[in-house]
Amino acid sequence: MEELIYSGLGKLGLAGSVPENSPSLLARYGELLLEKNKVMNLTAITEPEDVASLHMLDCAALLNCAQLEGKSLIDVGTGAGFPGLPLKILVPSLEVTLLDSLNKRIEWLAELCKALELDKIRTLHGRAEEAGQSPALREQFDFAAARAVADLRLLCELCLPFVKVGGHFLAMKGPDSGEEVRRALSAVETLGGQVERCYDYQIPHTDVTHRVILIEKTAHTSDKYPRRWAKIQNAPL
Ligand code: SAM
Repeated sequence: MEELIYSGLGKLGLAGSVPENSPSLLARYGELLLEKNKVMNLTAITEPEDVASLHMLDCAALLNCAQLEGKSLIDVGTGAGFPGLPLKILVPSLEVTLLDSLNKRIEWLAELCKALELDKIRTLHGRAEEAGQSPALREQFDFAAARAVADLRLLCELCLPFVKVGGHFLAMKGPDSGEEVRRALSAVETLGGQVERCYDYQIPHTDVTHRVILIEKTAHTSDKYPRRWAKIQNAPL
């Protein structure tokens, strides 16, 4: 995995800007992920080469559309740590919070962060729609990020409340997400955001194209949001 990650970071144009030990640390993370995946449902991707590309390099591509050095980021619905954990390894000065509603995954992530000797990283068990109402977390982050969690219209209500005015929500989606983005526009506006741009990229060593939707937080989110999950789902903004 390490070699594939190293060359993939080069293809993404990141070779000189990430720590020298990051390919080996990401490979170690991938190994521990596959080992734990035998006893806990963490990922559907089971080949080491695919973990290297479809997990590690996919997340690394975010560095080409956002300046993360010295900033804070919350990864909403992090699952097995994506994208927050690879970003933390690639940008050690980034303060990362990994949030998930499944405590078993959060407990494993806490162990993993210790094993990888990472600091300035926090693991948090909770539902985003509840955590987003907590004063300690609300509008406290430069960035929120999410991959494979929910439709963008719903996801914006889970993520934008965490973002400071002037910060960004990075939504990782597929290249065919144009209609999903259009359907989310009124939610984005209601929550105090504005779609800044979409960034398409090819994941190194694959023919897979993914897209990041960058949403800028331009105004405070009303205290009304986020609502309870049933409301978010049944009456989307
Ligand atoms: N982001 C990871 C990735 O790309 O591999 C995990 C994706 S997994 C399909 C979705 C994750 O989101 C699950 O771990 C689930 O527990 C979490 N999740 C779903 N709804 C959530 C919510 N409202 N608040 C917090 N976590 C949530």
